Amino acid sequence: MLNIVLFGPPGAGKGTQSEKLLAKYGLIHLSTGDLLRAEIKAGTQLGIQAKELMDKGNLVPDSIIIGMIDSKISNNPKANGFIFDGFPRTEVQAAALDELLQNKGTGITLMLSLQVEEKELISRLLERGKTSGRADDQNEEIIANRIKVYNDQTSVLVNYYEKQNKHVGIYGIGAIETIFDNLCSAIDKAAKTL
Ligand code: AMP
Repeated sequence: MLNIVLFGPPGAGKGTQSEKLLAKYGLIHLSTGDLLRAEIKAGTQLGIQAKELMDKGNLVPDSIIIGMIDSKISNNPKANGFIFDGFPRTEVQAAALDELLQNKGTGITLMLSLQVEEKELISRLLERGKTSGRADDQNEEIIANRIKVYNDQTSVLVNYYEKQNKHVGIYGIGAIETIFDNLCSAIDKAAKTL
């Protein structure tokens, strides 16, 4: 299986590049942000609980996130692999993901981290907020908190995957196609060792 963590701060381009990667490699896209927004839309208890945290730009508890990912992986037993987008965001989530995949006889192939400067992230998120309908893309204070949460709690995961020799950094500013080509080169190289 080809299992990719597409990593980076909010606004780095994870969603855009995931769409292109899953089309090329036939993978299943698991975006925890999208899954949570679907729960909110459906008005579930989980959605109601998550919304309050998401509207402030804070993280949803690990147990909720891991439970969601566990059921999505189990529901797709014939998958060629997964693209994890916006997950893991904490070390607890990363360790849980390793365990879930290990139990299925597989693991993470590669962690690709999109690198984008903070000023660019803020302007991309505000621009997206004009059409995304997402409250957390429309307010500069919430955006600043999301970037702070990323820096404080999530960016350490680069070290987690670095230790496993699975981290590759990709510069995330420029033409979407160029960034996509660079991501594909890293994936193709890692896939050869599978
Ligand atoms: P995203 O769509 O990835 O930008 O996520 C939007 C929001 O959903 C985040 O600001 C968090 O509140 C929540 N969220 C998404 N994924 C996770 C995760 N893996 N762990 C905790 N909270 C998450």
